[in-house]
Amino acid sequence: MNTILPANNEQDKITDFDVLVIGAGIAGEESSLKLADMGFRVLLIEKEPSIGGKMILLSKVFPTLDCAACITTPKVSETARHPNITLLTLTETESIVKEDNGLFSATLNKHPRYVIEKDCTGCQECERVCPVITEDQFQFNLVARKAVYIPFNIANPRIALIDIENCILCGLCEHKCPSACIDFSQKEEIIQVKVKSVIVATGFKLFDPALIPRYGYGKFKNVITSMQMERELAPTRPFNNILRPSDGKTPGKIAYIFCTGSRDQTCGNSICSQVCCMYSTKQAQLLMGALPMADITMYYINIRAFGKGFNEFYMQAQDMGAHYIKGKVASVSEKENGDLILRYEDIVTGKVTESEHDLVVLSVGLLANPAIIQVFKNTTLELDASNYIKQPDLMQSPAVTSIEGVFVAGTATAPMDIPDTIMSAGAAAAETSGYLKQLS
Ligand SMILES: Cc1cc2nc3c(=O)[nH]c(=O)nc-3n(C[C@H](O)[C@H](O)[C@H](O)COP(=O)(O)OP(=O)(O)OC[C@H]3O[C@@H](n4cnc5c(N)ncnc54)[C@H](O)[C@@H]3O)c2cc1C
Ligand code: SF4
Ligand code: SF4
Repeated sequence: MNTILPANNEQDKITDFDVLVIGAGIAGEESSLKLADMGFRVLLIEKEPSIGGKMILLSKVFPTLDCAACITTPKVSETARHPNITLLTLTETESIVKEDNGLFSATLNKHPRYVIEKDCTGCQECERVCPVITEDQFQFNLVARKAVYIPFNIANPRIALIDIENCILCGLCEHKCPSACIDFSQKEEIIQVKVKSVIVATGFKLFDPALIPRYGYGKFKNVITSMQMERELAPTRPFNNILRPSDGKTPGKIAYIFCTGSRDQTCGNSICSQVCCMYSTKQAQLLMGALPMADITMYYINIRAFGKGFNEFYMQAQDMGAHYIKGKVASVSEKENGDLILRYEDIVTGKVTESEHDLVVLSVGLLANPAIIQVFKNTTLELDASNYIKQPDLMQSPAVTSIEGVFVAGTATAPMDIPDTIMSAGAAAAETSGYLKQLS
């Protein structure tokens, strides 16, 4: 059935589509919007309760220092409202089978929200009464959230959901909700769709720094990740200031350890994550703005400032006072007051030195997110040597994959920054459009 669906982001009615886009980060949104603007019918699915991927959680963006939320939220809203895009959140793909006629038959699993989506007004009355306090994954565990919650304040759709694993079924939210939209009877919904093409835009995973025990992440409270620092710096931040976790003190001597989980075979990721040098440099500039008296020291191995305006951005950070040390950090240890001692080799002087900081930020790397290949049942979506989606014709058609009719966009192909992700998503939309036109 070739119906264009109405502009209602969580559809009751599912029909057949020109393209299934998997993942609604900036790559999936961009490919979906481009194709929808060309008149194609797009089904966009996202496993999380909100669209926006990692970008919607960032502070500002290098090298322009534009506010990430200001750039991304108009795109997020356009995606959610476009008449040619049907959006399903909390939805994953169970299987994709390529039929003899070239169409793809996809089985989707829409997880229950336990909230009637069309009735929820996002008033958060339920959150206020819920007695459960648990870790907030969208604030990277810097603060807590309730068992019934709106993921973050610029979430789209801005609808509550219940984290049923932590819910104690006390029913307080159900009694309080003015719209009577809490519904504990919701079940998993299996949805069958036929699509002519697929775009994989499943993005990247963050490296878990607990895998490098010598840096003390998870053991020393004042060792945090760069993603946690993004949240501390974001306009939608959990605190009203930059705080160190152990005692809420404003840090005055902050260290960054670059290449945490990148270019390091010992932790299973030998490639460069492309963005960490620049996002750390961005955070240093933002920190110097927020905390003018703070010392910021960057322990790096090599600086990768290869993009347009990147080297100037790096020089700007140094001019502002960020101190760059070419040094490999061997270990981090903790003093009684929560301050941290870094033991490192200064690569320029060859000396092993120690330095003291009151907050350490680990510039964590980007990892491939290859789980999606398992859903392709009778065809093989091939991976490259680093577990990203293989681009068999990288030089001429970088969006093409090993399966005809399946394309790839953004960091599902390799680590990259936002401008490159947008370009990759545009290329995926162009390839998909060409493929669809040749089918008809
Ligand atoms: C700390 C940090 C700071 C950064 N700062 C900057 C910066 O200042 N400037 C810049 O240019 N870049 C920056 N980046 C890089 C930027 O985050 C990426 O370029 C961008 O987010 C890539 O977007 P994406 O859509 O490819 O991936 P993602 O943002 O990872 O989006 C992928 C989406 O797919 C969803 N998904 C995954 N699997 C499935 C599935 N099976 N089914 C359904 N949905 C699925 C995910 O939930 C997610 O929403 C930074 C990165 C980090 C880690
Ligand atoms: S579930 Fe009810 S109480 Fe909670 S945000 Fe939605 S309308 Fe408000
Ligand atoms: S029923 Fe669950 S989500 Fe609702 S208030 Fe009680 S613990 Fe919180």
